[in-house]
This record gives sequence, C-alpha cells and structure tokens, in this order.
Amino acid sequence: MDRANLVIIGGGVVGCAVARAASRRWSDVFLVEQMPRLGMGTSTRNSGVIHSGIYYPPGSLKAELCVAGNKMLYEFCNEHRVPYRNCGKLVVAHSAAQAGALERLEKNGRANGVEGLRIVDRAAVRAREPHIEATAALLVPSTGIVSAEDLVKTLARIAAEQGANLLTRTRVTRLEQRADSVAVTLSEGDAGDPASLSEETVETRCVINCAGLYADEVAGLLGNRNYRIYPVRGEYCEVVRPKSYLVNHLVYPLPHPGGLSLGIHLTKTLWDTVLVGPTADYISDKNDYERNRLPVEEFVRRAKPMLPELAPEDLQLAYSGIRAKLVPPGQDGFADFVITRDTAALRAIHLVGIESPGLTSCLAIAGRAVSLAAEILN
Ligand SMILES: Cc1cc2nc3c(=O)[nH]c(=O)nc-3n(C[C@H](O)[C@H](O)[C@H](O)COP(=O)(O)OP(=O)(O)OC[C@H]3O[C@@H](n4cnc5c(N)ncnc54)[C@H](O)[C@@H]3O)c2cc1C
Repeated sequence: MDRANLVIIGGGVVGCAVARAASRRWSDVFLVEQMPRLGMGTSTRNSGVIHSGIYYPPGSLKAELCVAGNKMLYEFCNEHRVPYRNCGKLVVAHSAAQAGALERLEKNGRANGVEGLRIVDRAAVRAREPHIEATAALLVPSTGIVSAEDLVKTLARIAAEQGANLLTRTRVTRLEQRADSVAVTLSEGDAGDPASLSEETVETRCVINCAGLYADEVAGLLGNRNYRIYPVRGEYCEVVRPKSYLVNHLVYPLPHPGGLSLGIHLTKTLWDTVLVGPTADYISDKNDYERNRLPVEEFVRRAKPMLPELAPEDLQLAYSGIRAKLVPPGQDGFADFVITRDTAALRAIHLVGIESPGLTSCLAIAGRAVSLAAEILN
C-alpha cells in the first residue's frame, strides 16, 4: 500500500491550487481526479471573471478570499504568463431605485477593501460601452478575465515540478478513518470500461476534499452528512462574431436580490468573443449540462435592457456550467465557502460550497486549506 502525507481529492482549479501550495511544504502529495484530464468540471465551465469582491457580506470568507485572491491571481498570472486581462467592469442601473442599489453595492465593496470603485453617469458608460443602455453604473477597475484552462494547467505543472503526484482517471470510492491515517480507496481506469478498472488503497496522514459538486458526497464517505450541495445550472450563449463589437469589456446587471446569481452578464472574452449568461436554475442531476436548454430568445429578453440592439439572430447557444450551491431551492440567502477540518475525522479537511468566486479565490482558498493541513502534518 502506498503511503502519502496528503491526498487531495479533485483536480479542479481549487485542488490544483492546493496541490501547488502543499507540494512546496511537503513530500508525498497526491492529487486524484476522476476525469481523464484536470479541470474538466466547473473550473473550465464558468465566466472566467477575476472578481473584485464587491458582492459578499463584509467579514465573510467569500469577501476576504475574493479580495485577497484577486491580487494573488493577478500576480500569479504575471509571474507564470497565464493569459488574463484586467479590463474592469460596469454594473449598470436603469432607474433611480437601481441607482440606490448601486450605491449600496459600492459601499459594500469599500467595506470589503475593494479599491477604485466609482459611480459613473450615462455619458461615461456610453464612452466606454457605446451600445450599452444605463442611467448610471458602478465602475469596478479591479475586475478582469483569465484563461481558466491555462490557470489549471499552470497550477498543475508547478505542483508536478515540485514533486506532487497528479493522477487522472482515478476516483476516490472509499475513505476509512484509521488510528493515525485515512485509508483512501482509489478506482483507477476508464469508468466507461469496467474491465479496465483496478483498485488501490493509499494510506495518508491528511486528506483534503476539493471535490466541487461532489464535495458533500465525498464528506459522506467519512460519515459526515452535514453538507448538501444543490446543483444550479448556468447556461451561456455566444454573440456571433460580426456582432462582438457590441461589448468592449464586462457589463453586469445588479445581482439577483435573493443571492442566487450575479445576473446574466456580458463578457468580452480573451478571444474577443462575447458571452451572454449564465442563467441560474436548480436542476436535480449534477451531471446534466444540456437537457432542456433555454432558447436564445430567452437570453435576448434578459439581456435587452442592457443591450437593446441584441437580436435572436445574433446569438448561438454555448456551453453551460453547474454551481455547487449550499442554499436549497426555494430559499433565498447567502451561504459562505466552507473550509474546515472534519469534527469527527480529524485528518480530513473539507472545502464545500466553492461556487463563485471560487476561480478568483483559488490561491487564497489554497492558502487557508494548507494552513489547516499544517495543523495535522506539522
Ligand atoms: C456558470 C458558472 C460561472 C462561474 N463564474 C465564475 C467567475 O466568473 N469567476 C469566479 O471566480 N468563479 C466563477 N464560478 C465559480 C468557479 O467556477 C468555481 O468556484 C470553481 O471552478 C470551483 O473549483 P473546484 O476545483 O472547487 O471544482 P471543480 O472544478 O468542479 O473540481 C472538482 C473536481 O473534483 C473531481 N471529483 C469529484 N468527486 C471525485 C472523486 N470521488 N474522486 C476523484 N475526483 C473527484 C471532479 O471530477 C472535478 O474535476 C462560476 C461557476 C459557474 C458554474
């Protein structure tokens, strides 16, 4: 049986960031990912936005780790040549009541330590975004976009160079707490071809659950039933190339009042395409990316107040992603990131509910997870 200091379950952006941070400090670090490649889950099915931290309640982990993670991510991208653009964003208002909401958002952002926030008028919006309709907007200079795929690859490459073992097509099927370790049972091979599967057990001094949508189920393997993840699908459309000129940067509406999402926004990507989305709808299957996709007309209807020129023929359906929500359907409210040691299985650390801004915060989340691991390993 192999022995490890640390097994990280899940090779999304968070697991890879944890592997990078942990392999600086410890040998025998393993990361296991069930899919054929790293980052195939939520980590590459998102808007790729480097958030500033304006939305989250002051004092929350989301606020703290987003604001810190934003700075860390820009530094990381510069140092390791991960493609990004610090393009800034506008959150737009269409009425006096919405203008009041912008002011509250600005105040909240300042309380979280977000720098450079400024409310601008319609003329300033038009100067920056000639096709966008708004009575006023909050300008957020620290927002940007990043290539999520390149970020995942770079984190994984550095972790591997530092000695971490990154295993794909490897699924954690059982976790068993022992006196001074956790036994991690792995099923290796092609899940679609049962004959190719083999089983192995690794005994580790610490395990970190970075399983994204499945983090509740992985915690359940240790008998921890405290978490339940409700999948919420976000669908995107892409604006056809000849109409990409309609949007120059990032344009957001005011966020959903119940906290479900940031609202359908317009994202000029690093490849100069424009995304419209994501929507937000609870679904029952964590793997259901495509069933009952919304028609393009629905995206036009929702985006039209911001972009009146948008027409159905300007859009084509694009990818979708699934959020790992901790708030059940039918309930409003804020749920924070959970980054904690298991109260019963003391060698386990769980990262649960890592929805947006998880991409932005990945390096800061990793720092926190590795501090908890140090309590166990040092
Ligand atoms: C529509 C949408 C838009 C978003 N936009 C943004 C944005 O603009 N900016 C931002 O900061 N954040 C955004 N997010 C959030 C961000 O994408 C996530 O917070 C982040 O990707 C979470 O990364 P992760 O590594 O925790 O999860 P994942 O990428 O899902 O990785 C978890 C991995 O664990 C693996 N796994 C699960 N169970 C097992 C097992 N038993 N054994 C082995 N492997 C297992 C899975 O296969 C998966 O690859 C968005 C999310 C969505 C859905």
